[in-house]
Amino acid sequence: MTTLSLYAPGTRVYLPRESEEEGWITAEVVTCTKVSADALKLVLRDESGQETTLTGTLPPLRNPPLLESADDLATLSHLNEPSVLYAVQSRYAQRKIYTYSGIVLLAVNPFEPVPLYTPEIVKSYIGRNKGELEPHLFAIAEDAREVRWIFLNSRLKLTDGCDESGAGKTESAKLVMRFIAAPKAPATNADQNSFVDGASLVEQQIQATNPILEAFGNAKTTRNDNSSRFGKFIQLLFDSNRQIVGARVRTYLLERTRISYQTTTERNYHIFYQLCAGLPSKNLESLRISADYSQFHYLNQGGPSSAELSDRDKFHATQDALNIIGIDAGKQTSIFQVLAALLHLGNINITQTRTEAIIEDEDPAMVQAMEFLGVNLTEFKRWTIKKQITTRSEKIATTLTAPQAVQVRDSISRFVYACLFEWLVTAINESLTGKYGDAAARAETHIGVLDIYGFEHFEKNSFEQFCINYANERLQHEFNTYVFKLAQDDYVKEKINWTFIDFDDNQPAIDLMEGKLGILSILDEESRLPLGTDASFLQKLNAQLDKPANKAVYKMPKFANAAFTIAHYALDVTYQVEGFLEKNRDTVPEEQLALLTASSNPFLREVVDTALHRVGEPVEPPSPNGAVSKIPDPGRTSLVGTTGRGTSVKKPTLGSIFKGSLGTLMDMLRTTNVHYIRCLKPNQHKMPWEFHPSQVLAQLRAAGVLETIRISTAGYPSRWTFETFARRYYILIHWREGPPLIKREQWKRITVLVLQKAGIDKSKHQFGETKIFLRTGVLATLEALRSAR
Ligand code: ATP
Ligand code: MG
Repeated sequence: MTTLSLYAPGTRVYLPRESEEEGWITAEVVTCTKVSADALKLVLRDESGQETTLTGTLPPLRNPPLLESADDLATLSHLNEPSVLYAVQSRYAQRKIYTYSGIVLLAVNPFEPVPLYTPEIVKSYIGRNKGELEPHLFAIAEDAREVRWIFLNSRLKLTDGCDESGAGKTESAKLVMRFIAAPKAPATNADQNSFVDGASLVEQQIQATNPILEAFGNAKTTRNDNSSRFGKFIQLLFDSNRQIVGARVRTYLLERTRISYQTTTERNYHIFYQLCAGLPSKNLESLRISADYSQFHYLNQGGPSSAELSDRDKFHATQDALNIIGIDAGKQTSIFQVLAALLHLGNINITQTRTEAIIEDEDPAMVQAMEFLGVNLTEFKRWTIKKQITTRSEKIATTLTAPQAVQVRDSISRFVYACLFEWLVTAINESLTGKYGDAAARAETHIGVLDIYGFEHFEKNSFEQFCINYANERLQHEFNTYVFKLAQDDYVKEKINWTFIDFDDNQPAIDLMEGKLGILSILDEESRLPLGTDASFLQKLNAQLDKPANKAVYKMPKFANAAFTIAHYALDVTYQVEGFLEKNRDTVPEEQLALLTASSNPFLREVVDTALHRVGEPVEPPSPNGAVSKIPDPGRTSLVGTTGRGTSVKKPTLGSIFKGSLGTLMDMLRTTNVHYIRCLKPNQHKMPWEFHPSQVLAQLRAAGVLETIRISTAGYPSRWTFETFARRYYILIHWREGPPLIKREQWKRITVLVLQKAGIDKSKHQFGETKIFLRTGVLATLEALRSAR
């Protein structure tokens, strides 16, 4: 096909509006003339009848109607951005929120309950292959069940002012878990956290993990009323009879700053509000808190609770879930007491004389907090307003300023909360794998569900964004490699000739972050130096990394001081170094840690010990009968940095812990088959059925949707089995004796004849063992011929 014939009069194309960001309009070619060896002049008429002339540039081609709202974007004959966007948009307009894009399932958030998860629908997907029914989460989940797939639910990248928090990852993950764990017990969309009658105890326990982790790890943000502030990997474990026997949960990088600080439009973790709204008044009294939480500094910086969040109802759901997991009423009271203690801790009044921080001896908030924490008040006060420095010969206590003392106070709250979260995860795992990991030992297969934060790019990006983006960079790499391998497998299986396709490799960015002399190791080195500062860290970064070899990935920003820029696969992000060292060290003063571990509150001691000892511990406690789990474990992912006493032990930093846990997660992904779901947010206002093309386009671009399709279909975007092809196009052949009865032996023969008859050049197709592989545009030609008949 020449370019001239591709743009023959009548051909349907897309015309960019003012700019591509604003999307496209559709148009038809009126005339097409050759003006030079390699340029065409096109006269186009758009939807509104207006004519435009284009010389030299070629507009993207529209797909034939058959493919235009295809349920798999990988089947598009013309693969371009407007076509992909149009397909997703027109499906969404028909209330079809799911679309395949090769191995990826795109899910556009409906922002209202949709009748897609009813018992009938659940049933209809059981035992069916992926292509048989409409694209759906359940189809992917069913696939995963059949072939022991790992299932990965991830969002990726965002561009300025547009991100996908609230895209629907967590809701999707819950639906998938529900489908896999209890397909007979369907999800009702009304409340995906609610329990299902008739589910077995294990199934109930698995579902119970959601309300607990959401209460303690989710919060209202500007973008999502129920935003996950941690990463989560759940492994569902099955025995040899495919019965579910248990599960394992690993969590990543809980956001800590939220405990002590929220912007005016956001909130602290749900559990605090649930507690205030849901506890009976006599229990509230004994915790010295009340339903009016505005008296607490940790809760009154943020926005008001919104009625729709119904904290009180959620509290009861949390309590039910804790009961199911086996955390009894006594333990629950202990948990609530620790939470109350944190609220009181935040209210400790720290003022300053000319240079020194002071706290009144009788500060009521401190008295209360210390009572609940079981910590010696005088000692606590001393090590909040003073700091101990150890020199070679002696220990000297120096005074702190009020802001420094507030820092100490808040670091304790954050530390204790993070420990509590870790303790909960441990408790969940004990109940889901059996105290001795028995369930894990019995398991033969597993399905994993990963619900992890996507690329973040804010106005100010700090250590948290660095870690999150580092994780996404690694996930993207796994994804590319995997898609690429699948594409090659298809070529090999079908025995066709193929050439190596290049794809944009993000390994250099990964090396920059985690390599031997990369950012993380420089950060760790600096964090261990007593006199290391954010500034000295940046200096070292620039000295070691600002080299020609890194030019493509590492940049010193022209305008921002105290910052560095990484060219991520998604986009360039500039990180402010301020706070990097402190956050990476993640320490509470050693003296304070000693007080906590010596607490007279046995529950608090248990919580802190559990969290501190998790790092580096054997993954599963040994089973008494010596059974060992056959299922790979992504490892303990504790992110409670131990502060460790004594100088002999090298304290693990947050960055190094995160790197380690990501590494094990990636190793595990590599040994399994992966499904990806990309959740898309169609608008920023959480409005049902409102589709903003430019926003979705940005997300599609960022998620590399087009790139992925290109990799997986490189060279030959259309791959049809001979049967499908023959059935659709046999009418292009002239049959003297009338249309044939299509028989298996004839499928390939008919395919050959159709291609000959349509004049498709040999360079445009290849015959595989069972499929015909077609280059871009061929299907469009065939469709045109077919509709002309
Ligand atoms: P974050 O990154 O902030 O954790 P997320 O991608 O996990 O965001 P969710 O919390 O899953 O987003 O979804 C946000 C909201 O979108 C939900 O609270 C729900 O109101 C709506 N939503 C998501 N998926 C669906 C669905 N399949 N059906 C109906 N509503 C949905
Ligand atoms: Mg979420």
